[in-house]
Amino acid sequence: MADDPSLKARCWGCGGALDRQDRYCRGCGRGQGEYVAWYYQPWGIAVCTLLGLGPFGLLLVWRSPRLSRTAQWAWTAAILLVTGWVLLAAYRLWVSIMSQVSEILKLGLPT
Ligand SMILES: [Zn+2]
Repeated sequence: MADDPSLKARCWGCGGALDRQDRYCRGCGRGQGEYVAWYYQPWGIAVCTLLGLGPFGLLLVWRSPRLSRTAQWAWTAAILLVTGWVLLAAYRLWVSIMSQVSEILKLGLPT
């Protein structure tokens, strides 16, 4: 066993030294490697983002130790595109409702 700290694994969360076989950090308790929390796994990020987090899923993307820098940018682009599309669809729905409301008001309410 080497004592040189550079040869030891480090926690992705707190930077504390780990033994290679450690599944969880002794300092902060975060899972390592395959034991990273499910919401930092790519499929977990997808589920959270699609089922409610929306653009806030970006927090998970940028905190996750399971995605490479390139993958983080790709996920960011995809999440922003979908968010923009949803906002545009909501805006169009709003405009169409408002035009129907003004149509009804022009016809007058039955007395
Ligand atoms: Zn840690």
